[in-house]
Amino acid sequence: MLLELVDVHRSYQIGESTVNALRGVSLTIERGEFVAIMGASGSGKSSLMQILGLLDTPDKGEYLILGNNVNTLSEDEQAGLRNNVAGFVFQQFHLLKRMTIVDNVRLPHIYSGLKGDFRKEAIACLKMVGLDQRMDHTPNQLSGGEQQRVAIARALIRDPLIIFADEPTGNLDTKNSLEIMKILQGLHEKGKTVIMVTHEHDIAAYADRILTMRDGVIISDERKPGVEPVSAAGEIAFETHMSRKVSLWQDGRFRGFLAQAFQSILANKMRTFLSVLGIFVGVASVIAMMALGEGAKAAMQEQLKSMGSNMLSIRGGSAKIRGASQGAGAVARFTFIDVTDIASLRTVVKNASGVVNGAGRIVYGNKNWSSTLTGVGFDYGTMRSSVPTVGRWFTNEEIQAREKVAIIGVTVVKELFANSNPIGKTVKINRINFKVIGIAPAKGFSGPQDEDDVVIIPVTTAMYRVLGKDYLSGIFVEVTSPTLIEQAKSAISELIRKRHHLKADDDSFNIRDMTEIQQMLSSTTQTMSLLLGSIAAISLVVGGIGIMNIMLVSVTERTREIGLRKAIGARRSDIMLQFLVESVGMTISGGLIGVIAGIGVSLMLAYFAGWAVKTSLVSVVLATAFSALIGIFFGLWPARKAAALKPVEALRYE
Ligand code: ADP
Ligand code: MG
Repeated sequence: MLLELVDVHRSYQIGESTVNALRGVSLTIERGEFVAIMGASGSGKSSLMQILGLLDTPDKGEYLILGNNVNTLSEDEQAGLRNNVAGFVFQQFHLLKRMTIVDNVRLPHIYSGLKGDFRKEAIACLKMVGLDQRMDHTPNQLSGGEQQRVAIARALIRDPLIIFADEPTGNLDTKNSLEIMKILQGLHEKGKTVIMVTHEHDIAAYADRILTMRDGVIISDERKPGVEPVSAAGEIAFETHMSRKVSLWQDGRFRGFLAQAFQSILANKMRTFLSVLGIFVGVASVIAMMALGEGAKAAMQEQLKSMGSNMLSIRGGSAKIRGASQGAGAVARFTFIDVTDIASLRTVVKNASGVVNGAGRIVYGNKNWSSTLTGVGFDYGTMRSSVPTVGRWFTNEEIQAREKVAIIGVTVVKELFANSNPIGKTVKINRINFKVIGIAPAKGFSGPQDEDDVVIIPVTTAMYRVLGKDYLSGIFVEVTSPTLIEQAKSAISELIRKRHHLKADDDSFNIRDMTEIQQMLSSTTQTMSLLLGSIAAISLVVGGIGIMNIMLVSVTERTREIGLRKAIGARRSDIMLQFLVESVGMTISGGLIGVIAGIGVSLMLAYFAGWAVKTSLVSVVLATAFSALIGIFFGLWPARKAAALKPVEALRYE
């Protein structure tokens, strides 16, 4: 026995009322039979056929295929059976409009778990229905009768045991109906089991056996005189029809999904573009912002380097309460003896230089300019990268002799000398004549401070001739290696405490290193990037919601397609993957275009605005991966929704 129904019931719930479509149907069908199911409209014919074709399940009663109870099969096993043993022909044809005829015919093979492209087989099936010449046309270029013949070819591609046809001629004229019936009869003669629903007597006349239904029960079951039921010929390995053996990647299923996604994206270009816009903007801004952030960081590091690395700055006064009154003697006053003592800590200290700071009013001709005045020792030049490239640095003798020589920054040069060469000129600094011997290398801005608005003179000259001080403002120290900074700090502290007779907790001086400044700067840039990053993240989430929305629309639009795919053997996971591939495809392509645009924008900022930018591979990879994740996250719900649709309900959807 091929098929057996025992007391099958099926009812539908519409709001409050219940429609009993099948009310106790028992029936057996043998292999090779040609059965017509007749009856008035609404008598339950389609309901019965959907149960026989595993598109629907009974509420009550048993259904056995080759002796196996369908109730014990999982959803996936039922899908496997639909793919392997059943072929469907529907009144509405249910061809996929965007695919060519030949692709429609071979569609069931995507879900078969077999390798190959099955084009040849599809053409052979089309030949059987006389349409092999039209294989590259799309369904809407064909007449109704031709479309139904394509549907029959599709039903045949998996060489099924049973052909289920629900009103196959219902939408066709007499001539086309006859052609379809001839094909079905031919299949029957070749040994296929054909089960057909119709309400027309002359169509039913092709069958060997006619079942008549009324109000959900079979009221008659007649065989053509002289035709005996054929008993099952040959064994059928039932189990092999339920499972797929090869993986997603082997059987071309994934390729099929990709092609599908591509087609669907192409078919809705404007819509896809608009829904991908959010992702595009989000990714582009992530890339541009990260490039800006990285660029700013790199620029800052470059600047820190020009300030001199491994530097310590020793100053009088507490590090904690700067400027607060400490009383007389609370501030340590450093002299040149401190400098030489510190410089003699050879293991940790490479160089040391005393500095004094003050204000300088500098006059040349009729121009004058106020600048910071810094008195420095000989080593300061190399330590802080201040040795002029135009002109020269001080000599040791000049420093010893308190010579009146000065090195000026480019800002000062611009203000006082306009375009003329300042080297060798005499200027007045705080009313004392100085000779300009060099221009300090340009350093740009550090925060709001113009590092080029400086006047550098020998420390001795500054103390004794200009500022009238007999002590230093501070000492700059270059540590031998960055790893020794902490060690150097404690050695220097100890030395100063000893020399100045200070207690261990005395804070009349402080030592700072550049890492503090560096940390402060990088924490500022971090806050900035975090802020910019979260703005970009919000736009990505909004973009993701856009994708979800469009995917939900797509699922609704394609409900009947999903029904058809399920009918020909797609499993839940297949449908889900198909929609996920589509949403991820959209977000990734949006993401990739966004990456390109982001790089473009940052290059433009660099070119036109002169901002420091630095695109990193990490940001590109991150942004692309993140857009794929968004595709998965926001595509999951629509995809699950599509996958959960029941085949019958999806097929009926209008
Ligand atoms: P036939 O194919 O013989 O015209 P059907 O099997 O399609 O009849 O329907 C039998 C009865 O069940 C009809 O009254 C129909 O309105 C009802 N019916 C069928 N499918 C559904 C459904 N999905 N929801 C509600 N009612 C349904
Ligand atoms: Mg019907």
